[in-house]
Amino acid sequence: MSVSQTVRPPVGSKEGRRRWDVLVIGCGVMGSAVTYNLAKRGLRVLNLEKFGVNHRFGSSHGKTRIIRLAYYEDPRYVPLLRRAYDAWKEVESKSGKELLHITGGIMIGKEDGELIRGALKSAKVHGLHHDLLSPAEAEARFEAFTIGRGYLVLYERESGVLFAEGCVRAFVGLGSEAGGEFRFSEEVKGWKSGTEGVEVETSGGMHVADKLVVCGGAWNERLLKGVVPLQTERQVPIWFASRGEAKFAPPKMPVFIMEEKKDVFYYGIPDVGHGVKVGRSHGGVVGDPDGLSREVTESDIAPVREFVSRRLPKLDGPPIASTTCLYSNTPDGNFAVGQHPADQRVVVVSACSGHGFKFASVLGEQVAELATEGRTSIDISFLDPGRFRSE
Ligand SMILES: Cc1cc2nc3c(=O)[nH]c(=O)nc-3n(C[C@H](O)[C@H](O)[C@H](O)COP(=O)(O)OP(=O)(O)OC[C@H]3O[C@@H](n4cnc5c(N)ncnc54)[C@H](O)[C@@H]3O)c2cc1C
Repeated sequence: MSVSQTVRPPVGSKEGRRRWDVLVIGCGVMGSAVTYNLAKRGLRVLNLEKFGVNHRFGSSHGKTRIIRLAYYEDPRYVPLLRRAYDAWKEVESKSGKELLHITGGIMIGKEDGELIRGALKSAKVHGLHHDLLSPAEAEARFEAFTIGRGYLVLYERESGVLFAEGCVRAFVGLGSEAGGEFRFSEEVKGWKSGTEGVEVETSGGMHVADKLVVCGGAWNERLLKGVVPLQTERQVPIWFASRGEAKFAPPKMPVFIMEEKKDVFYYGIPDVGHGVKVGRSHGGVVGDPDGLSREVTESDIAPVREFVSRRLPKLDGPPIASTTCLYSNTPDGNFAVGQHPADQRVVVVSACSGHGFKFASVLGEQVAELATEGRTSIDISFLDPGRFRSE
């Protein structure tokens, strides 16, 4: 990837340090999207990232992510999702790379479970098109699956796959073209807000700006000094060989989420060039982001392989790849995105809890609006980071 290093002349501060309109910490999908959107608005923006593009220590790597619309987590996400789809298509067209592949999606769960109840609620509130299928109907339509009795299947045609690493690359490339600067291997050591602006100390020196946007993923709790309580959870997706069989690729196989039983969720992505990706969502080891193991062991693979043998039994090829990835979970599972509760110069972006990637295109825009105009065009008040203050 070639990242243009075009830098606009910074305005000098009294001390002769470089001054920026906005500093952004972190270049995962959120930080890269925010930086692109700020640069597009003509702002002098510097992104500071302690590792490289698409490194494997955070949350945005691992080839692919699911995007879906009938959002079981909460209907309030749907207006954001509607804009997210259009914004991804705009980024795709500007970058000239395929970023979004619509495959259709199925959500499989008990009728009274969190997944089906929540997805139906969102579909009803927002009038979303969907089909409800019996397990037998779903198995006939999507032959890769063995669903079993006692479940209900909700199909939606809008679900699909985002090519995660391409998305980050597109934001970095377009952000650089728009005049944003990205500095990799530059770690933020600390920041403070004063009368002159926000001062950020890094391994490379000191930077000053009018505003700071913190997009540090699993390191946000540390960067934000505990303002957002976050639990970092290790996750291990596994890719299985599909032997090029059509039943494991779109359009025959959709993306899926299955709530096998209460609090036990698995998800999967059909073969879009890397094998079939399957993982358990949550249920992982919790710890410090720098202390969690990045080694994948047989004990990580075994439960996923057992799920595959129960629900995708014809997918009997070997695991061909795996990675570790981090969730940063808030206590209520919703993102924390908005103004820092104690500092008007700082915007907080903590959009994980295992489901944030799909929102990066729209949250990049909303956060750029918030940082420059002090308001957003889509309601994100339910994500207010200040809601954790009294906890
Ligand atoms: C296994 C897995 C599957 C997922 N599946 C889906 C899915 O299907 N659909 C979906 O929508 N979402 C999904 N998600 C969630 C999604 O990937 C995350 O919401 C998203 O990647 C979060 O991006 P981020 O930019 O906030 O974090 P990150 O990508 O972790 O970026 C944060 C960056 O900040 C940098 N940083 C931290 N501290 C500093 C510092 N002091 N100085 C400089 N840089 C710093 C880090 O190095 C890192 O690059 C999944 C997540 C995982 C782990």
